[in-house]
Amino acid sequence: MILPHGTVHTDDRVLSAYATDFGGVVAHRPALVARAGSVDDVVAATRWAGAAGLDLVARGAGHAMGGQAQTDGGVLLDLGSLTGVHAVGRDRAVVAAGTRWSTLLAATLPLGLTPPVLTDYPHTTVGGTLSTGGLGGTSHRYGAQTDTVRELDVVTPGGELVTCSATREPALFDAVRAGLGRHGVIVRATVALVPAPATVRRHRLGYDDQHRFTADLRRLVDERRFDHVQGFTKPTATGTRYEIEVVAHLPTESTVDDLGTVRESAELAYGLHLDRLAPTVAARRAAGDWTRRHPWPNVFLPDSAADDLLTRTLADLTPADIGEFGVVLTYPLPTAVLTTPGLRVPAERLTFLLALLLTATTDDDLARITDRNARLYAQTFRAGGTSYPVGPPPGD
Ligand SMILES: Cc1cc2nc3c(=O)[nH]c(=O)nc-3n(C[C@H](O)[C@H](O)[C@H](O)COP(=O)(O)OP(=O)(O)OC[C@H]3O[C@@H](n4cnc5c(N)ncnc54)[C@H](O)[C@@H]3O)c2cc1C
Repeated sequence: MILPHGTVHTDDRVLSAYATDFGGVVAHRPALVARAGSVDDVVAATRWAGAAGLDLVARGAGHAMGGQAQTDGGVLLDLGSLTGVHAVGRDRAVVAAGTRWSTLLAATLPLGLTPPVLTDYPHTTVGGTLSTGGLGGTSHRYGAQTDTVRELDVVTPGGELVTCSATREPALFDAVRAGLGRHGVIVRATVALVPAPATVRRHRLGYDDQHRFTADLRRLVDERRFDHVQGFTKPTATGTRYEIEVVAHLPTESTVDDLGTVRESAELAYGLHLDRLAPTVAARRAAGDWTRRHPWPNVFLPDSAADDLLTRTLADLTPADIGEFGVVLTYPLPTAVLTTPGLRVPAERLTFLLALLLTATTDDDLARITDRNARLYAQTFRAGGTSYPVGPPPGD
């Protein structure tokens, strides 16, 4: 393979470096790594792989957790160098697919603009989250990132560069969004922008009762009282801790008087709120946790089964399983705003996203986590729920 602007690698060291991801539980080694430096490189690599009869898998930041951005013996196409914010307008930005959302934010926030939805960790690539969905605390209002993206430039599996949107090549647009890269490689995206607040008010509200916790989450989402709503829970030595995080984009304020116990109320810069995991990530890195294995299952629970499945998930966990950094993330989303065809959600008015975020330090931890994940997937599917496919594959 010859790329006009990129590089091609077949040496052992590089191939091994791509046989992993943030999950650390799947290890598929590519036959060849192509680092794209231009759209022409993506076209060339795709055509070459097609002619050679090899699988081609795109990779952004490699933060999926179940081998989604790996290939066993195929061509691994790394888009991490295909970066650049090409244009920022009043309501949209045009950005290369390998650009990280945090880089896009650095260009839009000084102009008072932001994408309407950002994932909790904004250092993944635009192409990577548009290929899975992209959910965050504002998703109860706007859906996934794939629901607000306006246009995509895609290199199809046949090696053609095609521009698609809801009105132009809509079948390709529908296949590629949350398509895990299987229907083409996104090389450029036109993403929506909305006015960004300068500052936000964040409240963290404590609960000791699961039913009040989930009832308030539902109420907050239905009332659209806050811009951002998420829930967290974890078993501790003194009982299960539940916490709702709500954020108001100032100057609009909303009351928390009728909600749980206020554990924190803080005014902070919007940019700091978006990168709110940074201190935790720094602590995880310092503790060696960031490079360990993270087989994090993410599921969409039907609302009717959410309380029961959350109870069962928590009953299946001890404070030792949770460890220093583990947490169960859960929050409801109206399915009416989740319109991306590739994002399969339960057929109810609300779905609860539930993510079991545990680290495996030892092989024994991994075995226990894998068993627990299998139970969570089985219970979810039996109840009519679905997998949000950023985690380890169900059944593995
Ligand atoms: C710490 C952490 C926090 C997270 N928080 C959230 C969250 O809040 N909300 C959420 O929704 N997700 C979250 N995720 C999951 C993460 O957003 C997804 O796994 C996302 O796909 C990762 O993007 P990436 O750039 O690393 O993509 P990769 O992991 O490299 O790729 C993911 C998938 O997209 C495909 N792909 C990548 N780039 C392209 C492209 N240009 N064209 C076509 N296909 C492509 C790959 O083949 C693969 O199937 C989190 C992950 C981590 C590690």
